Amino acid sequence: MGRMPVIAGNWKMHKTVPEARALARAVRAGADGARHCLTVLAPPFTALAAVAEELRGSALLLAAQNVHWEARGAYTGEISIPMLEDLGCTMVIVGHSERRQYFGETDLTVNRRVRALVRSSLQPIVCIGETLAEREAGNHYEIVFQQLAGGLDGLTAGDALRIILAYEPVWAIGTGRTASPEVAQEMHAAIRGWLAARFGGEAAGAVRILYGGSVKPENIGALMAQSDIDGALVGGACLEAESFLRIVHYDSQGSQSKGGQVHS
Ligand code: PEP
Repeated sequence: MGRMPVIAGNWKMHKTVPEARALARAVRAGADGARHCLTVLAPPFTALAAVAEELRGSALLLAAQNVHWEARGAYTGEISIPMLEDLGCTMVIVGHSERRQYFGETDLTVNRRVRALVRSSLQPIVCIGETLAEREAGNHYEIVFQQLAGGLDGLTAGDALRIILAYEPVWAIGTGRTASPEVAQEMHAAIRGWLAARFGGEAAGAVRILYGGSVKPENIGALMAQSDIDGALVGGACLEAESFLRIVHYDSQGSQSKGGQVHS
């Protein structure tokens, strides 16, 4: 089964509604014709409805940056899965390192979100990745496997088919320091090996593993040339249409998927 690449822009806490509309419109104009990958925009909650309107009728997909695991209730400040479904979202970023670092996200809360999402129409993009200290101590595989075991606890192989992973080494996020394609590929292959051991070969072959961490127009081509890198989660470079579109069009040759038949 092939893996249709995903290029997702995480807008983080950027863009007012008019700014978000303008960016979404510009990205749509440049990316709607792309057939070699899925293009995903993840604006802040406040701009989801406006961006949904801008993307209506296009091939671009809408994602949220977080979600609560309960469908409703007394959870001040939280947003539920039905609320996101209602807005036209199809994906949700879960467990981003900034959520883990600044807002107390743990593997347990990641797991609650993921379990709720695999029972919904939304696809989780589950973020994992080690810090610089963990890599320098040689613990990076252990940490990433721990995050996978915790975050994906209780999932079946069928559930696993519904998730997307994003390997984002924390030392590469927003620092301008990208993992080399070889270093990233090594971890992506290890993650796929972990998936095979946990969920079997079919799921391991189908799950998309995105790379994130200072992805730019200049390095996306070499990253995408790696056999286990199935796309990118882009932060800083997605805030301008021009740079994000250059990333989306990493393959100016047109259609490409990894491993044969396309699995979207
Ligand atoms: C991110 O936050 O997911 C990210 C990869 O950010 P940046 O591209 O800015 O490093």
